[in-house]
Amino acid sequence: MKTQPSTSSRRRVLKQLALAGTGLAIAPTALVSLRPRTDSLKIAINNGKVFSQGSIRPLHLGITQDNRLRLSTELLNAPTVIDASGKIVSPGFVDILADNASNPKNTYRIFEKYKISDGCTTVLQMHGGDEYPAAFHQYFDRQPHYVNYGIGVFVMRLKYIYSNPKDVYRYVEKGLEEGALGVCHSIEYQPTPFEELLEYAKLVQKYDRPLFLHLRHSSKEKELEGVSEAIALAQQTGARVHIDHLHSTGGTYNMPAALEMIDNANNMGMEITTCVYPYSYWATYIASKRFDAGWQQRFGLTYEDLTVVGTGAKITAQNFDFYRKQMGVLVAVPEGTVPFDKTVNLALQTDFCMIGSDGGIESEPRANNHPRGAGCFATALRHAQNIGMSLDKMLTKMTSLPAKLMRPSLNERAVIKDKAIADITIFDPKTIQGKATVTNPNQFSEGIECVIVNGHIAYRDKKILLSKGVPIRY
Ligand SMILES: [Zn+2]
Repeated sequence: MKTQPSTSSRRRVLKQLALAGTGLAIAPTALVSLRPRTDSLKIAINNGKVFSQGSIRPLHLGITQDNRLRLSTELLNAPTVIDASGKIVSPGFVDILADNASNPKNTYRIFEKYKISDGCTTVLQMHGGDEYPAAFHQYFDRQPHYVNYGIGVFVMRLKYIYSNPKDVYRYVEKGLEEGALGVCHSIEYQPTPFEELLEYAKLVQKYDRPLFLHLRHSSKEKELEGVSEAIALAQQTGARVHIDHLHSTGGTYNMPAALEMIDNANNMGMEITTCVYPYSYWATYIASKRFDAGWQQRFGLTYEDLTVVGTGAKITAQNFDFYRKQMGVLVAVPEGTVPFDKTVNLALQTDFCMIGSDGGIESEPRANNHPRGAGCFATALRHAQNIGMSLDKMLTKMTSLPAKLMRPSLNERAVIKDKAIADITIFDPKTIQGKATVTNPNQFSEGIECVIVNGHIAYRDKKILLSKGVPIRY
């Protein structure tokens, strides 16, 4: 991709306006004005295939001085011109299920670095977030950010702090009043009575936000009960409910049934969505309950199937107990453990399933985090091409569908149309690919050529250039 060097010189801009004006009627005031008009262009993206409102078509795109988009069928001129021939120009990707909750003050720059390099312009932590949204924003809104960011109210943390559910309800409501984007709970990790979940659902409905749920069950026998529970919450309260990573919790073994249940509920007027990440293996902490006695039979795996993420070390019968005694060691199971054709690919066929990474890279040089934290979105675009799914369908799941779920907080974003906020990702459909691996998750995705955040070129040619992210609040 060729880019002309940026010039900030107003004189150059005026000269170009003057040149462009030869033969055109330009009002003299435009030429003598000391300040460029807010609707004059600072960046032009020409010759790209633009994903705009559901379809990909040839268009030229301008970014105005006030960081808004302008679409054109004519070639555009601006101080900075990007030639996007052969590339796809998309709204910046929105990750609704990013995860950087464990130690964000120390890790958020690394976390955001691997998100922008994967094409994300907006990164929302809706699996958890923070228990005190106002305090979160008070701190983070003063820091530089590569990407736009936002959080939900983290119910699990509130429940650790407050034993009386009434206190939890009070803080959940306070969080919503403070601009949190939704309410997040993980029922499998912290079993919670249905009556209590109903209160959270009523609150999100009252405040017009989504309820994000990691469902109650992940076993073959019981996983669909978790799906039923999510549907019951939507039915009884009118809340919109998002089911986190359905292929890993709720539809691992019974995906067709899980999808049918959600589809039926939506046809009855409920609003239930879900997401997947395009990886055929899971990774979790070796110290977790998942690896309690009998795990080999439960998952059909052996010691040698487990790999320590970030080092590539293999688990054996001899070292299993040693690793299991250490907190925070993430191990991955082999590719294909979660067969694509029975899980992820089925979910992707529906119009209520979007992409969510359920991850984030939190350390360097080699993080002990699932590679999806760095490569989810590029991998999804490669995966779409591998399974013959159109790129416009996949891009919908990475832009407009998440924006609709998070409405109205992303109303001006995640879309390419006149006057929308200029969050843009330009990628090469031929080379796009996640590069992060279990052995080395800290790798930038291939094919993400340029990421524009709030009208500024923030990432280009695998280099981070600027911190232009802003907080996203309700
Ligand atoms: Zn989860």
